[in-house]
Parts: sequence; structure tokens; C-alpha cells
Amino acid sequence: MESATGIAFESRDAIDALSARLLERHVRYSFERSPFYRRRFESLGLRPEAFRRPEDLRNLPLTTKADLESDNRDFLAVPESQIVDLCQTSGTTGKPVSMLQTAEDLERLGYNEEISFRMAGVVQEDRVLIACALGRCFMAGLAYFEGVRRIGAMAIRTGADSPAMLAEAVLAHRPTVLVGVPSLMLALAERLRELGCPPTELGVRICISIGEPVRVADLSLSPLGKRVELSWNAQVSGTYASTEMATSFPDCAAGAGGHLHPELIVIEMLDDDGRPVPPGEAGEVVATPLQVTGMPLLRLRTGDVAMMHDAPCACGRNTVRLGPILGRKQQMLKIQGTTVYPPAIFEALQGIPEVSNYYLEAFTDYELSDRIRVTVGLAPHAGISTDLIAERIRGRIRLKPEVRILAPGEVERQITQDGKRKATRFFDRRKEQGSPNSHA
Ligand SMILES: [Zn+2]
Repeated sequence: MESATGIAFESRDAIDALSARLLERHVRYSFERSPFYRRRFESLGLRPEAFRRPEDLRNLPLTTKADLESDNRDFLAVPESQIVDLCQTSGTTGKPVSMLQTAEDLERLGYNEEISFRMAGVVQEDRVLIACALGRCFMAGLAYFEGVRRIGAMAIRTGADSPAMLAEAVLAHRPTVLVGVPSLMLALAERLRELGCPPTELGVRICISIGEPVRVADLSLSPLGKRVELSWNAQVSGTYASTEMATSFPDCAAGAGGHLHPELIVIEMLDDDGRPVPPGEAGEVVATPLQVTGMPLLRLRTGDVAMMHDAPCACGRNTVRLGPILGRKQQMLKIQGTTVYPPAIFEALQGIPEVSNYYLEAFTDYELSDRIRVTVGLAPHAGISTDLIAERIRGRIRLKPEVRILAPGEVERQITQDGKRKATRFFDRRKEQGSPNSHA
């Protein structure tokens, strides 16, 4: 692996050359070692020598998460005796999918997280509270720990404990960096305020937000991101990652989107027809993680929609940056000709203090248009009308949805379902109704 800062400060030409070299090696390795890709290349009459640059990847079909579920062990490129860790993803059908890691893969993962944390500003003197699970076959917690260890900072491995337990850990061990989902960081700040300890005075300087975007499409902080920033008076750094990619896209201190690590991943941004979209336009993120030895992947469809940015970054790095995830491709809504993703509506709701919880439903209204209904639970004695809430959403998505109010307990029951890692806030009732064109 390269030096601890990665190659991001080198020229774009040098970065592209390294990326191309590593891609060529990765394609050859996948062809030679992975039964899944060997079969795929041979059935199409393709040779690995034909893949020298990222553009050449377009000749290869996309890999889907369904492929990973159905042909899982065919992706394994080493004897199983070389596997040292089993990571699991939640899977698209809810069935966990194994991503098997070699010792080299864990080294790579640690390197990825080291350069990611360094990019956010973490240094050896920091004490890093990792409020995310290290067990349960999750990759993330393990990766964060490895990154902290490689920097030489101190890890405080609380896991995603209750706000009360985390508050005790914060007061006892005084972390300078928090890693966790933004909603947990807000609940933790609230708990500390209840204890009479203002979180802004506890010396936390960086909040690394995982799991949910903290920026909006123009790269400024979302209402949720701003609340974390204000609650802790700390720099908020977002990051995007997934177990299959085994690579993260961290915000640098300039906070202008997640920098791509060119030595670890090649990203394509594709439209609905699989054609590349230029920087600044929304497309699906398609990932080819480099230097993976256990289960190498080529052109994995993530299902996530985002925009790439290639303007120079204030931090001086010459790598491209990935904007926040605008939504899941399958969750794209078409309402009266406007494209909307559920997170944009959530961001508007997160900016309304009276709203304590919420969810969104989508229905098929008529051919080519969807209809949405927003259900909110309000804090006690909140003096806000459904019309005002609908207006605030219109300010964000330019459309005024139907809004209804339910008791917060009822909303909570709807969004928390057993066995899910996160609350479910989007219910797609379009499929239940069936497509109006499906009988054609
Ligand atoms: Zn930057």
C-alpha cells in the first residue's frame, strides 16, 4: 500500500496512471481466480488484456447484489483456508450475504480507514469513540478500529450503546472524535445536556457521521448535519461506504463531498441505460473496488444515486469527490414530472424542531406519476399545522405533499421493525398496487 496520506495530493495524471495500473491487475486477478468472473469473461469471449483503462470496463456487464446473493461462493478467489474474517451485509432480500476477507483484505480495509480518518483530520493524539458495533459480523466497526489503531490514536470501543451509557463513557474518557450515526450523536448530546454537561464544552472536535448523509446536493450541511455541528460545536465529516465496496468516501476538512481513494476503487456514474453521466449530474454509483483478494468485484451496482464533483477541492487533493447519496435508485419517485428521492423530504422534516418522528409512503397515482403521503409525529403541545409542514417540504422539493399527523407512539411503531438495523422511514406502496403497465 502507498503512504499514509495516499496519493491524493499527486497530479491528476499520476493518479489516473496508478488507478489504471491497479485496475488492469485487478481485472486479470478476477479473471484468473474468481469462478464467477472467469465464467462471465469466457461466456462473452472477453480477455482480461482488453481492460487497461476505466473506460474499458463498459464492455463488461454489471454485477448486481442479486448475483452476490445467488452465486456467493463463486466470487471467492482464494481457498477458504485463506479467509480470516467473515463480514455480512444485510442483503437485498433481507437474507445476509457473506463477504469473505483475507488477511490482505483486512490490511487494505485498515489502510482505507486510516487515510479516511486522516482526511477528516484525526491525529495520533485523538481519542476516538467508536459508537458502532464491532461484532455481529459488521465490517464497519472493525474497519474503524483498524484505522484508529494504524493512526496510533486511542479507540474507545463502546459500540452503538444507549445514549445514557455513551454519556457515561464521554464523561469518563473525554473523546475528541465521535464516530456514529448522526441521530445517535444528537441523542447523546441531549443526554449530556440533561446531565448538566453542555456537549459543546467537552472538547469533541470532529463528529464522523456514518450511515446517513449529512450534506445536501449542493454539498452544504443538511439540517441534520447542522444540528450535529451545533450540538457539539465540532467539525462534521460525512462518509459513504458499504461492505461490498470495502472502501469509504470521507469528507475532508473542507467539507465538500467524499474524496475517492483512487488506489482502492474505480467508480462509474451511470444513467438508466448504463451510459456514463458527466460530473454534476445524478447517476447510479457503480463500484470496482481495487486490491481486494478474497471476493474481488467488477462493476458492482450499488443502487445508490449521487453526483460526482471534479472541480479542485480547497484541501489541495486532486481526487474527485462523491456528493451525498440522493437516494436509492429503486426509491426514485416521479411526481408530476419532477424526480424526488425520499431523503430530500426527510431533510426538510429534520429541519422542523416540532417534528419528533416521521415516515413517507408512495402510491401510484396515475400512469407515470407517483403520489406521496407524509406522516409525522409531533412533540407534545407543538403548535404547527399540517399545511405549514407541507409548505416546508415544498421549500425543499418544490411539491406540496399530503401531510397527516399521528401520535408519536404510533409513528414509532410503524418505523421500528424487528430485525432491521435502522428505522424504516419509506414505505413503497407502489409495488403493492402493481404497475399500471404490467398487464400490457
Ligand atoms: Zn478536499
